[in-house]
Amino acid sequence: MPKRFKTNVLIIGGGLAGSSAAHELARNGVDVIIVDSRKTIGIPVQCAEFIPKQLMQKKFEEYFKDSIVQEINNMITIEPDNKRVYSDSKGFMVDRTIFDANIFNKAIEVGAKAFLKTIFLGFYDKKTAILKAKDDVYYIEFDYLVGADGPRSFVMEKAFSKKHELAVCAQKKCRLKEPLKDIVIVFREYIKGGYGWVFPKKEYANVGIGIDAYFNDNPKDVLELFIKDMISIGLIEGECKDSSGGFLPLDGIDKLVSSNIALCGDAGGFCHPITGGGIPQAVVSGNMLARYILEEDLASFEEEAKEIYGITNEKAYKKRKKYMKDWNNIKYILPYIWVVYEDYWKHI
Ligand SMILES: Cc1cc2nc3c(=O)[nH]c(=O)nc-3n(C[C@H](O)[C@H](O)[C@H](O)COP(=O)(O)OP(=O)(O)OC[C@H]3O[C@@H](n4cnc5c(N)ncnc54)[C@H](O)[C@@H]3O)c2cc1C
Repeated sequence: MPKRFKTNVLIIGGGLAGSSAAHELARNGVDVIIVDSRKTIGIPVQCAEFIPKQLMQKKFEEYFKDSIVQEINNMITIEPDNKRVYSDSKGFMVDRTIFDANIFNKAIEVGAKAFLKTIFLGFYDKKTAILKAKDDVYYIEFDYLVGADGPRSFVMEKAFSKKHELAVCAQKKCRLKEPLKDIVIVFREYIKGGYGWVFPKKEYANVGIGIDAYFNDNPKDVLELFIKDMISIGLIEGECKDSSGGFLPLDGIDKLVSSNIALCGDAGGFCHPITGGGIPQAVVSGNMLARYILEEDLASFEEEAKEIYGITNEKAYKKRKKYMKDWNNIKYILPYIWVVYEDYWKHI
């Protein structure tokens, strides 16, 4: 017999967006259950772990406790001919195992409950979700359901009949030749529809690539090319470990609310379609959704979210559509598709 539970708010996904929503709701006395397929929130890390200062609101400072690995000053963009462009990019490299756990633990401290190693399978009806944990099936009745289940959101698929267009990423941790105070973004013809990164964490760096899934290249092969490339330009040593990967939503924000179900974080397409940055957006959108659930006004959540992030993400998505097909002419299109150039901001 399936086990049955009831809650005010059921949150699918206990990552940044889900835990941020759970924290805000539970501390306001709402009965919340977080469901996540992972055994431990934040593990494995599927992220380059850079948080830009200007996008993170002050009120979330407590989430950073013990998670900052080093501060960042600039972004160095390396063009295909190795010319370097410096731009101000203050922020932090964090350890996401700690950062994600901080938010999740805050939610638990104020009363949220969590079902880990549990998968959302779909809806039984408009107010009941079906979950599976090992051999058990659960039916959970909810007033509201939050889809915070990341870029390949199953909640989005089931409730909105839609899937995100995706970038696929691969990453390793490599020893740096010399310590770096800046994050490095690298554009190459062989990293199609995306870029490579070298983001420093003391003597090591997260070294990765993100490519548009449309091009169908193997991300692991592209990463190996990139690592060789970064060794040859003297940024890293050959010593690399800890392979990881992941996905990014590329199509921005569409519909966020369907009756009593709403999406936030990557599930909602809050991640920026060109930079791939989504940490601040996930934390902020989860918190914002929680506040509108408290007011029982999901329509205003969609309105505010689109006002703050929707227009920016839509512009970035349109640029992808317009320019990515000319990727073999990367030198020409780069000023129109990367945020450090004036042309990016002048033209759609
Ligand atoms: C390789 C890579 C590098 C990145 N680097 C950066 C960076 O440097 N800076 C930055 O700002 N952003 C970066 N991002 C983006 C950032 O990681 C995401 O935007 C952010 O993690 C989104 O948070 P989220 O809570 O929405 O989703 P997630 O962090 O993906 O959390 C979703 C949670 O839902 C759970 N889940 C999924 N499906 C189900 C299911 N059916 N049932 C139960 N649980 C489920 C998952 O286990 C997971 O815990 C990067 C992304 C990738 C892939």
